[in-house]
Amino acid sequence: MLKSTFYLLLGFVFFASISCQSKDEKIKVLIVDGQNNHVVWPKSTIMMKQYLEENGAFQVDISRTQFLNKSETFSEWLALADVPKGVEGKPKTDPDFNPDFSKYDVVISNFGWQAASWSEKTKTEFEAYVNNGGGFVSVHAADNSFPEWKAYNKMIAIGGWGNRNEKDGPYLYVDKDNMPKRDYTEGAAGRHGPKEPFLVTTYNKEHPITKGMPDSWMHTSDECYAFLRGPAENVTILATAVSSKKAPELEQKEPVAMAIDYGKGRVFHTTLGHDTTSFECVGFITLLRRGVEWAATGQVINNEMPEDFPTAQKIASRSFKLQK
Ligand SMILES: [Zn+2]
Repeated sequence: MLKSTFYLLLGFVFFASISCQSKDEKIKVLIVDGQNNHVVWPKSTIMMKQYLEENGAFQVDISRTQFLNKSETFSEWLALADVPKGVEGKPKTDPDFNPDFSKYDVVISNFGWQAASWSEKTKTEFEAYVNNGGGFVSVHAADNSFPEWKAYNKMIAIGGWGNRNEKDGPYLYVDKDNMPKRDYTEGAAGRHGPKEPFLVTTYNKEHPITKGMPDSWMHTSDECYAFLRGPAENVTILATAVSSKKAPELEQKEPVAMAIDYGKGRVFHTTLGHDTTSFECVGFITLLRRGVEWAATGQVINNEMPEDFPTAQKIASRSFKLQK
């Protein structure tokens, strides 16, 4: 009798631990970075990692190309992050940058303008990873990167700068009639006005990433990218904003959050995230958290709106403090 009770208990503990384990299973996230014209990048990577891990559902690793100057330690880079100066020299391909993407549910890129190409091996592996169902998230200047990489441009749907123009695909925006528009007019891709707070409008209210978000909310100071263009295939516009660079005749609204299908993979692309202030916005943090979860799993389980979410009149930010 005692023995059978013991086994019953053992069995209970075993099943309890299994169900506990699956409940505690975290979404595995990899942030890739190392080459970004935004000097905030070492800090913004940590901000994203911390904001995601605070939520409890994510476990975040970082994989980085070789450093470009003498500062080899993370603390030196973190200190540099607040210094408004560019990185010396042009980035070069890091032949040793070869993360094992297959260990992760989702990869976030914090690369930027003029990032050097990844090695052919790494590019091929990344394409296969997303094509086979891996998640990808492109933040702000990550859509400036890799203008020559065809598959990458399909993943992000639209991008800017890096000599992108009509050869890369149409401009994508929401037109006067509030419809998505692919505009094949010739011209360069990528413009932005000064950094300023601006209103973000929820364009798609059914998508898991934006479901339940208010019709519009004030974003903290950021750059509103405009006139991005690219293949623009399999893309759902989730949220928009009006750029100070808008064409008066078009009155276009720019996509600031998008969901893209690439093979079996899901991509979340936000153009937001220029610097510390932008990353501290509760709207940005919420979009990022939901976008990362959706890219990883295809759903957003916790879609409660944070109490401190911005309103249409009032920005809301969470001051970042590094946890040791
Ligand atoms: Zn920027």
